[in-house]
Amino acid sequence: MTSPVLPSHGRVRPLGLTQVSLTGGFWGGRQTVNATATLAHCESWMERLGWLANFDRVADGTTSPDRPGWSFSDSEVYKLLEALSWESARSGDPEAESAIKRLTARVARAQDPDGYLNTCFGHPGRPPRYSDLEMGHELYNTGHLLQAAVARLRTAGDDDLVRVARRAADHVCRTFGPDGIDGVCGHPEIEVGLAEFGRALGEPHYVEQARLFIERRGHGRLKDIPLGRAYFQDDIPVREADVWRGHAVRALYLAAASVDVAVETGDSGLLDAVRRQWERSVARRTYVTGGMGSRHQDEGFGEDWELPPDRAYCETCAGVASIMVSWRLYLATGDVRCADLIERTLYNVVATSPSADGRAFFYANPLHQRAAGRPADPDEVSPRAEAGVRAAWFDVSCCPTNVARTLAGLHAYLATVDDDGLQLLQYAAGEIRAELPGGRPVALDVETAYPDDGTVRVRVVAGPDEPWTLSLRVPGWADGATLTEGGRTTTVAPGLAQVRRAFAAGDEIVLELPMTPRFTWPDPRIDAVRGCVAVERGPEVLCVESADLPSPGVLDALTIDAGSAPRAVPGGAVVRGRARGVPDQAWSYRDRPLSGDGGDWFDVPLRPYHAWARRGPSAMRIFLPIADQHPPTQEGA
Ligand SMILES: [Zn+2]
Repeated sequence: MTSPVLPSHGRVRPLGLTQVSLTGGFWGGRQTVNATATLAHCESWMERLGWLANFDRVADGTTSPDRPGWSFSDSEVYKLLEALSWESARSGDPEAESAIKRLTARVARAQDPDGYLNTCFGHPGRPPRYSDLEMGHELYNTGHLLQAAVARLRTAGDDDLVRVARRAADHVCRTFGPDGIDGVCGHPEIEVGLAEFGRALGEPHYVEQARLFIERRGHGRLKDIPLGRAYFQDDIPVREADVWRGHAVRALYLAAASVDVAVETGDSGLLDAVRRQWERSVARRTYVTGGMGSRHQDEGFGEDWELPPDRAYCETCAGVASIMVSWRLYLATGDVRCADLIERTLYNVVATSPSADGRAFFYANPLHQRAAGRPADPDEVSPRAEAGVRAAWFDVSCCPTNVARTLAGLHAYLATVDDDGLQLLQYAAGEIRAELPGGRPVALDVETAYPDDGTVRVRVVAGPDEPWTLSLRVPGWADGATLTEGGRTTTVAPGLAQVRRAFAAGDEIVLELPMTPRFTWPDPRIDAVRGCVAVERGPEVLCVESADLPSPGVLDALTIDAGSAPRAVPGGAVVRGRARGVPDQAWSYRDRPLSGDGGDWFDVPLRPYHAWARRGPSAMRIFLPIADQHPPTQEGA
């Protein structure tokens, strides 16, 4: 079976990547851009910056103190290999296959006789192996190698990449096993790599090594750093923590691995811990976009309710990692709210990062950009992760390859099966050719222009004669959704709408999701956006861009009439707003309230946040202050 995540058991089971295909639309188009532009873009930058040549230097014995790239640059090669593996299986593109072969050959040459594989440590002129567990990323890199090998193993079988990965994994198990170094890596990732590698090979001792790493963390084995041990989740054991904290990508990769290990070892305490952390972190530490991470200083989670829109970090990789956690939790528990969060994060974080041509990326995804960025040079590496404009490549370039591997395998997240039938979770034009339990084939075609349009038409092409249940996810925001089947239309509540019967070829089930733009009110405890409202349409968060306003300063002074509902227009929505320029003052504080409210009402255009700054640099905001004259009526107030 070909899928990034294949637990040995769970409430629901993933479909294989060969069982689902996207046939265009929002995600099919992005998958094509990823295949035809992003993958080659990533390889060319890694070549140009010497990150690939680092492997050659190890093989040729020419390593030196002068090495290009950060200690984690090897991992970008591995994430690209993972993306190429999914892509090769998806499209059969011979270029993807030959890229895998040429990259694998260079990686393989750099492997030491004992299986150790790293271009930053352990060779002449370089620091000794495992001499900087806190920030050296050695095991992190290996974790990504293992994930790449899993993709290769499940799509092409046991090849050179898998053999390299096995030797590297065996080296890790020997070196960090029960009798080895009693340490963990400062950046979790080896755990999720080992767990899946063990599942893919059917060799539980790799899962056991992942478990050992998870159990060791949280006891202060890593040296304290100015950001504190919470930065790498070495402050509290996973099973005792109540919330995600510290570096967001680290926290989420660790949580994903913890679900894997909990499922494989039947550890309900560990699984409950991650569920508890998911609940509180999603409720109190997550942006309306699904973005995670409020702090730039440590790329980390803030306190509960600390969700400033302009200082939002929301690293693209944290979005990818959040999807990894939610997908594993959903598979384990069947909790469809996880699929809701996946949808939100896909549309508003993952889709936001790449440019339309797939050759530039956002690293951070703030919800408010006060000043338009400067146009990025497509030939230059961006030194910083600020997000005024998408950059071709970054000094720390974790996000482009993370987007690439996610998009290449995106169809993995569309649907699942259980003993009773099939669950359709994400809506995209596509085809499903799966098997229900007992080997009963089922074929469905999905027609939809979602999210431009809320109609999802599921046609049964073939299926078993006996009754089975088709479930369609109704997103949490979709009040008033309807389901039409067998000539009857019924209203369906958020959750799973289920139809159980014997379907005949040609039967159609039509889900109508309400796509009227809507106001979204933040919890008042998120004080950075108190008195503000956002606008959403379907799964898309909308935003206002200065490019659409009469003058750039209008964005700062804009207030919104929350008493009149947003209206749909092609490509987005409009809300009633106004902006009275506030005179500049020598001191911005007074002994009586200052109001910027006033001016003539006009229609303020909003567009999907994922498309912001695609027309050029722009200031932008998602949360809009509410005009004084129309205080919102609040339920229970
Ligand atoms: Zn990143």
